[in-house]
Amino acid sequence: MEAFDKDKREYFGNRKSRHFWNIFRIYGEYEQNVKAARLLLKMLDKEDNYDILKRIYHYADLFVEFGEDNEGKPQSGENGLESVLESMKEEVDSLVMCRTDKVRIKYGGMLLWLFPAYYSPVSCSISVSHKIKEEMIAMTVAHEYTHHVESGSITSLFGSLDVLTEGVAEAIAVAATKKYAHRKNDKLSLDYAKKSITLRLAGAINLIDIFERGFGGPCSQETFKKNFQHKYSYAIGCAAFLVAEMRNGQGIYKDILRTEDSLGLLVDMLGGQDGRI
Ligand SMILES: [Zn+2]
Repeated sequence: MEAFDKDKREYFGNRKSRHFWNIFRIYGEYEQNVKAARLLLKMLDKEDNYDILKRIYHYADLFVEFGEDNEGKPQSGENGLESVLESMKEEVDSLVMCRTDKVRIKYGGMLLWLFPAYYSPVSCSISVSHKIKEEMIAMTVAHEYTHHVESGSITSLFGSLDVLTEGVAEAIAVAATKKYAHRKNDKLSLDYAKKSITLRLAGAINLIDIFERGFGGPCSQETFKKNFQHKYSYAIGCAAFLVAEMRNGQGIYKDILRTEDSLGLLVDMLGGQDGRI
């Protein structure tokens, strides 16, 4: 419980970003995103899903520990970046059963003051900050590469519902990083992936406790909307996909990228009936 409280503090502690990310409210899709987030939160609150969520949080089934002598190190440098992209591309492509057009990767980019890495659909390129820690590279590249796959998928993708685009990128990145890390004996990347989703899941569990389980009073859609922050999309989306994966297997990722109604399908996968908002 102590570790959980620490994760929650870490996830919710950074209040500075809160106001900044409110710029996302200017987008028309913001309302839809908030509705989708609330719907997924309600699904995650269902008893069996909540139990699965807690179980993944404690990563009982998710991670296989490395032995003492498997202390691999992530690669860095310009060549390292290319080869990490090649590997992650392979892992992600095999998960979503597709092959995508060429994508480039480089250190440096105009928006790096905002994000440690990002994908630009205009230039089909992934930009990574020089300041990024080595252990973050594999999972970050998998996440950004998934955005590339999303941008070319038939649904192109999910409109702009962050809760889906970021959720699926994060969940696929975890699955891809696990495979990559075991193949390369790269313990640090695996530890980073573990840490990263632990924080997301702690965030999602906390959001359920607050908004669905009435920690501090019942919560209307209006109150939810007023309190909604951009980063909640990552926590809720990632939790929803990881629970859906536990229930239905990794095949969900290729299905979700091939349907017109990804939110509806995700809600189905979580045992719900009606995913329309
Ligand atoms: Zn992203």
